[in-house]
Amino acid sequence: MTRVLVVEDDPQLVRALKINLQARKFDVEQATNGTAALRLAAADKPDVIILDLGLPDMDGIDVIKGVRGWSRVPILVLSARHTSEDKIRALDAGADDYVTKPFSMDELLARLRAATRRQEGPDRPDEVVIVTTEDFSVDLAAKKVRRGERTVRLTPTEWHLLEILVTHPGHLVSQRKLLLEVWGPTYAENTNYLRVYMAQLRRKLEPDPSSPRYLVTEAGMGYRFEP
Ligand code: CA
Repeated sequence: MTRVLVVEDDPQLVRALKINLQARKFDVEQATNGTAALRLAAADKPDVIILDLGLPDMDGIDVIKGVRGWSRVPILVLSARHTSEDKIRALDAGADDYVTKPFSMDELLARLRAATRRQEGPDRPDEVVIVTTEDFSVDLAAKKVRRGERTVRLTPTEWHLLEILVTHPGHLVSQRKLLLEVWGPTYAENTNYLRVYMAQLRRKLEPDPSSPRYLVTEAGMGYRFEP
């Protein structure tokens, strides 16, 4: 059964997609924002992703970039944005196809079949769900971190922070985004939480925690994972 992750915040459209996809024997998971989409893409490894660009918490382009940091899963963009600049941005970020709203369900399904067929070709490289550095590796599917032969024990909060950072390799992730995602809206200003937990992560992962090589601070802005 082909597993499809539908990322869309319009409940009516989600319902219509679900009915049509399930009728054609797709197994449907859904996310209504980008944060949940990135988490589900890493945890459930869907066979294909249908992605709306206008999401409540982040631009769908950033979801594409995040997923492309570690996965080649086909991404089919579904968007009300019609300009060719929008299409180019999405395709450059790593989307496989682009369907504009309103769309015909038959066309969407045909494109979905095409995207999954391409993926099933013989040259498909294995899905990368393990992020590896010279000092540690992060298995996103098994939620395990290893340093050499040793498993590193992380608290759920440390894991959540690390997961967000390693799924955006090389990208600045803002303090606010990390706080919102890990602690929720009430804590969006509590940057001291971040400092404490990032220090803990560095002690566990960095060869020299006092001068971080992988979990880099961008002063006043956020953090960046440098693979
Ligand atoms: Ca939307």
